[in-house]
Amino acid sequence: MRTRSDVAVLGAGFGGLTVTHRLAQSGFDDVVIFERDEGVGGTWRANTYPGAACDVPSHLYSLSFAPNPHWSSGYAGQAEILEYVEDCYDRFDVRRKVRTGTTVVSVI
Ligand SMILES: Cc1cc2nc3c(=O)[nH]c(=O)nc-3n(C[C@H](O)[C@H](O)[C@H](O)COP(=O)(O)OP(=O)(O)OC[C@H]3O[C@@H](n4cnc5c(N)ncnc54)[C@H](O)[C@@H]3O)c2cc1C
Repeated sequence: MRTRSDVAVLGAGFGGLTVTHRLAQSGFDDVVIFERDEGVGGTWRANTYPGAACDVPSHLYSLSFAPNPHWSSGYAGQAEILEYVEDCYDRFDVRRKVRTGTTVVSVI
C-alpha cells in the first residue's frame, strides 16, 4: 500500500466522488479518499430508514457529469441512490482510490 499521495480527500460520499473525479480530469490522479465507513455512498449508505429518499426531483439530484435517465420514480429512494453512487465510483474509476474503514482523527 502506498503511504503518500498528492491529495487527501475526506469522505466517500457524493462530495468525495465529485472532487476526485474533477481532480482526475485536471490531471491529479494521485489522490486518496479516507472513509471511516466500510463502503462508499456516504449519507446514502448510512441512512436506511423506511421512506428515505431524495426531496428534490431525481433528475436534479444527479451529478452533472453522470445524468441518469433510468430513475424509477420522480423522487428516488435510498437504495436506488446508493446504487447510483456506487456505480459512479466504478464508472469514473474512483473506487480504487478509496481507503475504507479509515477514520481521519487529525490533520496537520
Ligand atoms: C434522506 C435524505 C434525503 C436527502 N435529500 C437530499 C436532496 O434531495 N437534495 C440534496 O441536495 N441533498 C439531500 N440530502 C443531503 C445529502 O446528505 C447530500 O445531498 C449529499 O449526499 C452529501 O454528500 P457529501 O459527500 O457531502 O457528505 P456525506 O454523504 O455525508 O459523506 C461524508 C462521508 O465522510 C465520511 N467521514 C466523515 N468524517 C470522517 C472522518 N473523520 N474520517 C473518515 N471519513 C469520514 C462519512 O463516513 C461519509 O461517508 C439528503 C440526505 C438524506 C439523509
